[in-house]
Amino acid sequence: MDMNPIVKAVGLRKSYGAFEALKGIDLEIDRGEVLCVIGPSGSGKSTFLRCINQLEVIDGGALWVNGELVGYRRTGHKLYELSEREIARQRLATGMVFQRFNLFPHKTALENIIEGPVQVLKQERTQAEADARELLARVGLAYKCDAYPVELSGGQQQRVAIGRALAMKPSLMLFDEPTSALDPELVGEVLSVMRDLARTGMTMVVVTHELGFAREVASRVLFMDQGQVVEGGPAAQVLSSPTQARTRDFISAVLS
Ligand code: ADP
Ligand code: MG
Repeated sequence: MDMNPIVKAVGLRKSYGAFEALKGIDLEIDRGEVLCVIGPSGSGKSTFLRCINQLEVIDGGALWVNGELVGYRRTGHKLYELSEREIARQRLATGMVFQRFNLFPHKTALENIIEGPVQVLKQERTQAEADARELLARVGLAYKCDAYPVELSGGQQQRVAIGRALAMKPSLMLFDEPTSALDPELVGEVLSVMRDLARTGMTMVVVTHELGFAREVASRVLFMDQGQVVEGGPAAQVLSSPTQARTRDFISAVLS
């Protein structure tokens, strides 16, 4: 087994124009970890996930995902930008689940899940379908194979979206506030699928305001503010006895 960290960021910086959204992130994430990232709106949480998934190009520092330098190839002392094709291949290492479910509206749950495996991974359709049925069963939606997104609740759509990401067999799953757009009564079913996924040993980075979930499932919690990691550590420690005033203030604001 590869014992290198699955994500390694060194002095990672990202700006939007003159605004610096990430001001030098140093972080290692090990395989099998469930890292929950918390922090106020605008602190750079989504930007960090988007850099890992190469939806953004970083402006400084370096980032390795799954053992590879992201976006570049090093030859001797020189760095060369990767081609679109190589970047697309690198991106397959990560699966991402967004706040909004982004399912294809004209495709059924099953068709949504087999799209990537068939089109991108060139899997045989019968095999992709069998896998997709298994994934739908895993997220508790075996009976919704043929339903269109409009026929599914938000929670069910998000569970299909998780199945769709898993169908690409990623090494790392990223979740960006996966329950924030859901009605409160639908949050639990999505968290429950994520909890099961964590139990299988999947490496997960989860941006969430669900502190109860973080406390129960996270191997580590990271608090971000203003483009920096303010503190990180075991969930119980960061959530119950944070060392930084900013973390304390944020946690009490979320809980109140
Ligand atoms: P979070 O997910 O923690 O709420 P984001 O990573 O989305 O924060 O954003 C961090 C900061 O970067 C915010 O101030 C946001 O306004 C800014 N930002 C994010 N995306 C863009 C963009 N595409 N263009 C300009 N500014 C952006
Ligand atoms: Mg965000």
